[in-house]
Amino acid sequence: MTDKINILVLVEMDQDKASDLSLEMLGCARQLADKDDESDVVAVVFGDDFGTLGEDLISFGADEVILLESTLCHPYQADTWLPDMAAMAKETKASLILMSHNSTGGDLAPRLAFKLKCGVATSCEKITIEGAKTFLTRTCYGGKAREVLSFDNEVAIATIRPKSQTPIARDIKRCGDVKTKPLSVNKNDVRVNVIERKRIESDGPKIENASVIVAGGGGLGGPEGFEIATELADVLGGAVGASRVACDQGWCPPGYQIGLSGKTVAPELYIAIGISGASHHMAGCANAKNIVAINNDADAPMFNFSRYGAIGDYEALLPALTKQIAKLKGQ
Ligand SMILES: Cc1cc2nc3c(=O)[nH]c(=O)nc-3n(C[C@H](O)[C@H](O)[C@H](O)COP(=O)(O)OP(=O)(O)OC[C@H]3O[C@@H](n4cnc5c(N)ncnc54)[C@H](O)[C@@H]3O)c2cc1C
Repeated sequence: MTDKINILVLVEMDQDKASDLSLEMLGCARQLADKDDESDVVAVVFGDDFGTLGEDLISFGADEVILLESTLCHPYQADTWLPDMAAMAKETKASLILMSHNSTGGDLAPRLAFKLKCGVATSCEKITIEGAKTFLTRTCYGGKAREVLSFDNEVAIATIRPKSQTPIARDIKRCGDVKTKPLSVNKNDVRVNVIERKRIESDGPKIENASVIVAGGGGLGGPEGFEIATELADVLGGAVGASRVACDQGWCPPGYQIGLSGKTVAPELYIAIGISGASHHMAGCANAKNIVAINNDADAPMFNFSRYGAIGDYEALLPALTKQIAKLKGQ
């Protein structure tokens, strides 16, 4: 049995709908709140064109939705979001605040914690509530161990790792309040001027949602290796991912990075080519249903995580594998 606990979820938009991670956080908040009849889940969204988002968020588990409306809300700026986020935390008497573990949550969460004089735990994978106390679980030591944190303050802030929570099924019969409020901040309060923002479009599926990912690492040796990996991904209808070494070398875009400081994925099939299997990398892909390792070192740790493995030079193995799969698929 838990005490009454109000949970505030910062919902971020992906184009004109809530991001997948926001719905995962709402699902987590709903399950926590359902343990006590009086607990509420409040979703806060910053934007200027919400469409049916408010009702959508109710159907995905919110009891109340607060839409903070201003053209200043995009792109994210701490100066524009922080004052109203802090005000909403106080107004809703939130004891737990959930934000995405991404660049926005990573920037806003510590600022909000400072403003509210409370604790923040980043990159959380699990939340439990016992009595009035919230326990937040996250990985530490580069993914080798897990730690459970709790705070003495009345409010706890957590940023949540993608794919660590499950959204609840949409129920359009769910009822709740949707309020639209003007942002309290005006243009003169914003100290940073964003000059340009680039959206990198890719042809294939988004890496976060792809059911097949072909990931390349240091063993690919250069951008040419990624061209060979991309051919396999194309045949499988999958996305291309990478280890940090490959991204740091500039062999592929930084957005490809999977791991502790990159993206978290949970595809049906993860093909790791020339990736050693360091714990920092595995922190982002260990939840894949099936891992296939291709590595020329039989002792590479990646084989310990793999259901299937091929030992050898990727340059010799990959073209043959791609050709065979294409043949089987009649391509
Ligand atoms: C705080 C912190 C955060 C980090 N975050 C991340 C993260 O988010 N993601 C991440 O990936 N890393 C991260 N790292 C780095 C991580 O520790 C490893 O250094 C990195 O994952 C290694 O990448 P790799 O396995 O691709 O490269 P390498 O260590 O260079 O391994 C290359 C592998 O390819 C194999 N190989 C070589 N040639 C061939 C060939 N011709 N054919 C087949 N196989 C071949 C080798 O046997 C080896 O196993 C982080 C590190 C720190 C300290």
